[in-house]
Amino acid sequence: MRFDLISIFPEFFAGPLDHGIVRRALEAGIAQIRVQDLREFARDRHRTVDDRPFGGGEGMVLKPEPLFEAVESLLGHTVGDSEDTVAREEGTAILLMSAAGRLFTQDTAQRYAGLQRLILICGRYEGVDERVAEHLATEEVCIGDYVLSGGELPAAIVLDAVTRLLPGAVGNEASTQNESFQPYEHTVRKIAEGPGALLDFPHYTRPAEFRGWKVPEVLIGGNHAEVAKWRRQKAIEKTRRNRPDLMPKSGESQTG
Ligand code: SAH
Repeated sequence: MRFDLISIFPEFFAGPLDHGIVRRALEAGIAQIRVQDLREFARDRHRTVDDRPFGGGEGMVLKPEPLFEAVESLLGHTVGDSEDTVAREEGTAILLMSAAGRLFTQDTAQRYAGLQRLILICGRYEGVDERVAEHLATEEVCIGDYVLSGGELPAAIVLDAVTRLLPGAVGNEASTQNESFQPYEHTVRKIAEGPGALLDFPHYTRPAEFRGWKVPEVLIGGNHAEVAKWRRQKAIEKTRRNRPDLMPKSGESQTG
């Protein structure tokens, strides 16, 4: 899978790309990542990529020309013209990071992991000229209900969540099939039919007793069926407590 990040702060990504699963995926050739400095597509000697907003108001807005040209140079052809055509490529998504976008979830990450290429556009300042959302990006992506100062952290989050789902990226495939937000019909946390998901169950490691707090007996006993039952129950409790919105509307979970 190929990722292209477009940003005015290309050096920002050195940290996120250099650790753990993402780093190993890069080294193994499972993911390829390129960072494109938006300013290379500025047209003046000051390398200007932003301008004041039409209609007045606070802050600066990223101009459309450098963003269109950056994406077009990555794709090798033009993508939008005055007739509103976006040349969408099979297997490629062009994502505009935006607090006003659609919420990014584990489902979104799964969908992206099935593509060949993601181009991630990082906004800054007050945001990005709307023609980028309308005629260049295939999707506007919001990583959560809060406003950050730039799209770099959101892009790194999307990249991380997607990369760890790529085949071979995580040593044990089962560990990405059995974790928070996975639809429960696929997991040991299965509790009911229908849409929805459960958060992860609690994990413990040694020591079996720490400052008087003991690891639950059932996990030490070695009865796999009992362990699975306990984990499922704890996942239900945790989901109900922390994310009641994820709970199914009907079925066993209502009573259990
Ligand atoms: N004026 C905008 C916020 C701009 S923040 C608004 O009120 O919605 C500057 C940039 O940070 C945005 O262009 C976007 O790329 C990025 N950004 C900020 N919060 C984000 C979020 N929750 N998800 C994705 N991108 C975000």
